[in-house]
Amino acid sequence: MLVVMQEGASEVQTEAVIKRLVDMGFTVHRSTGVRHTVLGGVGPLDDFDPATLEVLEGVKECHRIVSPYKLASRHFRPGGTIIQIGRVTIGDSHVVSMAGPCSIENEEQIDRSAEIVAQGGGQVIRGGAFKPRSSPYSFQGLGEEGLRMMRKAADRHGLLVVSEVMDHLQIPVLEEYADILQVGARNMQNFNLLRELGKARKPVLLKRGIAATIEELLLSAEYIMSGGNYEVILCERGIRTFETSTRNTMDIAAVPVLKRLTHLPVVADPSHGTGKRDYVLPMARAAVAAGADGLLVEVHPDPDRAWSDGAQTLTPQQFCDLMGQVRAVAGAVGRTA
Ligand code: PEP
Ligand code: MN
Repeated sequence: MLVVMQEGASEVQTEAVIKRLVDMGFTVHRSTGVRHTVLGGVGPLDDFDPATLEVLEGVKECHRIVSPYKLASRHFRPGGTIIQIGRVTIGDSHVVSMAGPCSIENEEQIDRSAEIVAQGGGQVIRGGAFKPRSSPYSFQGLGEEGLRMMRKAADRHGLLVVSEVMDHLQIPVLEEYADILQVGARNMQNFNLLRELGKARKPVLLKRGIAATIEELLLSAEYIMSGGNYEVILCERGIRTFETSTRNTMDIAAVPVLKRLTHLPVVADPSHGTGKRDYVLPMARAAVAAGADGLLVEVHPDPDRAWSDGAQTLTPQQFCDLMGQVRAVAGAVGRTA
């Protein structure tokens, strides 16, 4: 159930509608837009007549949301969500660049990576400290020590930090060092983790599962949002198909589909989306042309020696070229980068 309040509706009127919804068994989520306050009522009543609420004072209109996700639906915030972290905004006309190595390896590597990202015009450094590796014998990440190194490097170069949280027990340590908590593709349907992230007070970057539909991705976002954390960034990072030329099949169409279905910002990860560094730049251009609000890209000072995902990791020069080309594409579609 979605109740749109009239422009200028008073707080007393809004509170009265909230109380009415609560009395009817709904849990109410409030979104304050520039013009209208929107109340999202999530509850058991499906056969409810919206007209009952439309007659209340201050109410502009009332709709039943038919999609299985409610808070993630575009109707909840028609103008789109803009996430503000320090001086960085995600979801407005500026395309945000998040880049860095797959894994944090040592102090020098992460500091040099931060320098490359900042010089290229990126806003956020990425790097895994807790790594979800397919093999238990592969490098699993430096843990908290790695996060400390990345925070220091980010602060030195004026960047924000995004890093993966694999388990709900890791949330406190990630919250201490990172600005954005990443949920990896393998964890997109770890519902316990998603529920706990609903209580976190840091934005979440939610990656699409390797075999997840767009609707499943949005339902996972709904898990986080229904816990009270509305700051979710969705990430298309390629899905598994029969194609073997690339590591995953980058679903560029997911970008405009998501932009239509949800108000949440959408970023694209052409590194995991292709698995090969030569394809990262063209897919980054395509994602921005398709309307992505940001990019998540792997770059390393010496990618051939990277401890993980070297084949898909850009060299510093390639990253610099990518940023230049992405700026040109962004300009062509009415945005900046
Ligand atoms: C990563 O970003 O390094 C990563 C492990 O991504 P994904 O979860 O998309 O595989
Ligand atoms: Mn990686």
